Amino acid sequence: MNKRLIIANWKMNPDSGAKARVLAEDTERCIAPVRDAEVVIAPPYPFLRDVAPALVKAVLGAQDVFWEGSGAYTGEVSVRQLQDAGVSYVIVGHSERRAIGETDEMVHKKTRAALEGGLGAILCVGEDTRSGNVIPAAVGAQVRSALTGVKKALLKKLVIAYEPVWAISTSGASAGPCTPDMIFQARLVIEKTIADIYDPGASKIPRIIYGGSVSPDTIVSVISAGHMDGALVGSASLNAETFGRIVRNAAEAV
Ligand code: PEP
Repeated sequence: MNKRLIIANWKMNPDSGAKARVLAEDTERCIAPVRDAEVVIAPPYPFLRDVAPALVKAVLGAQDVFWEGSGAYTGEVSVRQLQDAGVSYVIVGHSERRAIGETDEMVHKKTRAALEGGLGAILCVGEDTRSGNVIPAAVGAQVRSALTGVKKALLKKLVIAYEPVWAISTSGASAGPCTPDMIFQARLVIEKTIADIYDPGASKIPRIIYGGSVSPDTIVSVISAGHMDGALVGSASLNAETFGRIVRNAAEAV
């Protein structure tokens, strides 16, 4: 069994490199006793080099990447530049980026560039609104689109994060938590999509995780009843002690 994978997405927080360094140090202290977990911390771009020296157990992640290698792309950051800053994983297609105009085609190019350049890609997929207990076709379509042309050999560096947008703590939606059963249904949809694109064996290669208001209490059912390999954590990752409890509970969940 893989170690549980827990990813901290700090989004546009905190507001200084010094605070980012302290949060990383505190997080390291809180996750140090946990043995069977893999942890990624994704701070804002300007703080990657502040956070990197504090990491012992966790590895560094980034929150976005551009698909071109270099050139006249003001404001963009390449795979190679992230690697130079010590980044191992990058989040692509987060719903907050899709909401400001990132298309499936852009997510596809970013996923491909990250994987082909040797980064782990954390591909976020998920429906905007809840529609009963059926996982909308949009979830499979987002996976299919992002993986167009991606070689099967690269799937081992892929993490798929199922994040129903309505369940993200800061989304403003009030549909309530995503149930473990829905989380498991989403996993099955994602696995089937990968099996359709490649072959049945391929569906077990990428890690599949859940994101959406994960807390120290809910992480247990996300893993045990939702059958997820870990979680992408937003708000709760800004509190080192809470995040540490999520990591510990994830590692211990059966
Ligand atoms: C997210 O935005 O990816 C996320 C999971 O946020 P939160 O944990 O705050 O719901």
